[in-house]
Amino acid sequence: MTAEAKQNLAQFLDIAGDYLRDGYRIDREAREFTDDPPAAPSEPPPPAMPGDDFASLPLAYRMEEADEEEESLECIADAIRVCHACPLGQTRIKAVPGEGVEAPKALIIGEGPGADEDASGRPFVGPAGQLLDKILASIGLSRQENCFIANVVKCRPPGNRDPQSGEIAACAGFLERQIDLLKPKAILCVGRVAAGALLETADGIGRLRGRFFGFRGIPLLATYHPSALLRDETLKRPVWEDLKRFRQKLTDLEEG
Ligand code: URA
Repeated sequence: MTAEAKQNLAQFLDIAGDYLRDGYRIDREAREFTDDPPAAPSEPPPPAMPGDDFASLPLAYRMEEADEEEESLECIADAIRVCHACPLGQTRIKAVPGEGVEAPKALIIGEGPGADEDASGRPFVGPAGQLLDKILASIGLSRQENCFIANVVKCRPPGNRDPQSGEIAACAGFLERQIDLLKPKAILCVGRVAAGALLETADGIGRLRGRFFGFRGIPLLATYHPSALLRDETLKRPVWEDLKRFRQKLTDLEEG
C-alpha cells in the first residue's frame, strides 16, 4: 500500500472509528472530507513494516462483518445454558439441552428435567430415564444410535412440579430450533405435558395417546410418561401397543 493510500485510509478509519464510538457526535468541521489532495506530510511516512497493512489495524477499525454463526445443536445448547428468560433459569443447577444423534429417526420429548437431570445436565438419566432407554431399546431405538432426547422445558421446575404455561412458552423457541435442525422422521411425546405443549391441547394423555398427529408435517405419537409406568404397571401394555405403532410408522417411512 502506498503512503498516500495509507494516509487516506487512516483518515477514513479515524472518522469511522469516531463514528463507531460516538455515533454522529463528531466534529464535522475538523473532519470534513475534501477532494483536495491531502496536505504534504510534514515528515516522510515511516517505512512499511511487515504486516503493516489493513489487516493489522485494531479490530474495531477493520469493521469486518462478524460471520453469522451457523445454526447447530451446540449453538442451541449454548444459548439454553445461559438462558434466563423465565424463573426456572434462577433455580436450576444445570440446564438440560438434550442429547442424541443428528438427523435422528426419532425425537423423544419429555416434559422437563428432574433432580438427576438438573444435577447432570443430561436428559432422562434418573429412574424414569433408565426405563425410557429400555422402552426405546425394545423397538431398536437409542440415544447413542438413532434418537435425540429433549424436553419441553430445559430447566428443572422446582419440586418436580409441572412446567407452567409461561415457562413452556419461554422455552418453546429452543425446541422449535432443535426440531427444525434435527428434522426427525417421527416424534414421540412421553406424557401429557409434552403432548399437550406440542399439540396445543389440554386433553389428557389417555385421550391423546396411541394415534398419530402431525407436527409441522412430522408424524407425532404420544404415549404415557415412563414415570407413570413406574407408579402404575398396568400402563405397560398400552405403552407397548403405542411403541409397536411407532416402530411400524418408522418402518413405513423408511420403506416409503
Ligand atoms: N422426566 C422428563 O420429562 N424429562 C427428563 O429429562 C427426566 C424426567
